[in-house]
Amino acid sequence: MTVDLHSKALVALLTLARQLTQAAMTAAMVQRTPGTMVPFRSEPPLGLRRTIAWRWAFQQKAAGWYRIPLGDLPSLVKIGLPFVPAAAVYLDCADWGERAIGGVLLLWDDAHASHAAAFEAQANHPALLLRPLFARLLEERHLRMQGQESDAQFDHIFNSVPHGIVVVAGHGAHAKVNLAAARLLRLMDGAVDLDMLAEAMRLTRARCANAAQLDAAYEVLRHEFDAKVEVDWELDDQVWKVDTHPILDSADNGRVWLFQDITAQVRLEQMLRREAAHDLLTGLFNRRAFFDKAQVHYLAHARDADAPQCMALLMFDIDHFKSINDSFGHLTGDAVLQEIADRAQTALRDSDLLARYGGEEFIALLPQTSAADALAAAERLCQVVRAGPVQVEGLAIEVRISVGLTMWRGASEKLASTIARADGQLYRAKREGRDRVADDVG
Ligand code: GH3
Ligand code: MG
Ligand code: MG
Repeated sequence: MTVDLHSKALVALLTLARQLTQAAMTAAMVQRTPGTMVPFRSEPPLGLRRTIAWRWAFQQKAAGWYRIPLGDLPSLVKIGLPFVPAAAVYLDCADWGERAIGGVLLLWDDAHASHAAAFEAQANHPALLLRPLFARLLEERHLRMQGQESDAQFDHIFNSVPHGIVVVAGHGAHAKVNLAAARLLRLMDGAVDLDMLAEAMRLTRARCANAAQLDAAYEVLRHEFDAKVEVDWELDDQVWKVDTHPILDSADNGRVWLFQDITAQVRLEQMLRREAAHDLLTGLFNRRAFFDKAQVHYLAHARDADAPQCMALLMFDIDHFKSINDSFGHLTGDAVLQEIADRAQTALRDSDLLARYGGEEFIALLPQTSAADALAAAERLCQVVRAGPVQVEGLAIEVRISVGLTMWRGASEKLASTIARADGQLYRAKREGRDRVADDVG
């Protein structure tokens, strides 16, 4: 029943009650708490709504009505009435109601008080027939208010969660879009036309860095209506985990889209992963990352034994680094390490794998590199270090390195063996005077 129709029915009922009893006023009452009644509508209309509460003890009678002592009427009511009440009777509808309890209050003024007596004298007064009708109207009102309350609660939750939510009803022309989703999709929140929603989704996806991946992921929705898809949207500098699934496992019930901002989580994971793989001082890969990444090359070559590739491995170590530390201090030593790492990077290709192996020792794997190119790269390394002194806070520090170079010897050779040979060559370079390349490739 619509609100309007409901209140018209209520007015009709109160008017009828008045006609049948000649009361000066009739009021619709509902129980708020046990023993407390509240008027919410009267005929003629008075400003009673939500204003006055009557407290009285129920004295339910078989007849379904009882006389209320005038002293029990709140003084506010008496003041508000356009007449002085001379008699008050309550038509109790409690035995008809299931959820809501209430009744109709009849008030007579002095001039009509005799009608009150006539009403009381007549055991089957027709006004008593209004009791089930009023109980029915009261139930309707109660259900409607409960509905409004739960709608309001739902709307509040729907809009206050930080996640974006879009609910597409099974057979509706509109989708329900909450505030967070509206902001993300650049839409109005509330009920949104389905075509507008589809367009907004398409535009937002197109703005994502991984738009092509998203298109591929959602392709399944074209032919499988019940499909579930969970994929991350990389939008501007944010990452949204977007989950879409049919409501209660069937697209007949509609589909829901949930958007969760996981940017902080993703950034943290990236940072931790980066930190775990990199050396903090030089920014190069650390020893562990070197092994992991070099192993990938070794495994790939081992699998593809028919097409052996040339791979070089070199290790280098700063000459007399201890004396740099001793002369200028450990912090200056750190700055030298950073500078040498930077210079080494410029002497190698992007595809080469350069890492800090430990202390002042570095390692590099040069995939797809001939012996001649590897030798040239090793010489380049020495050269970029020799090229000029490292400048640290007004100091100019001459630095030299020694390099050991070897080539990978084919599919049966493990990484550790290649490293051991390069290390041997590095040791030889040191022994033979430092500031040089030693190799076993010639
Ligand atoms: P060689 O020419 O034989 O390589 O002599 P060296 O002095 O470079 O070699 P040694 O192994 O005697 O000394 C290496 C020094 O490097 C000792 C160590 O304190 C220093 N070192 C290792 N890691 C770091 C670091 O992270 N920062 C600084 N400042 N020094 C470091
Ligand atoms: Mg050294
Ligand atoms: Mg060393």
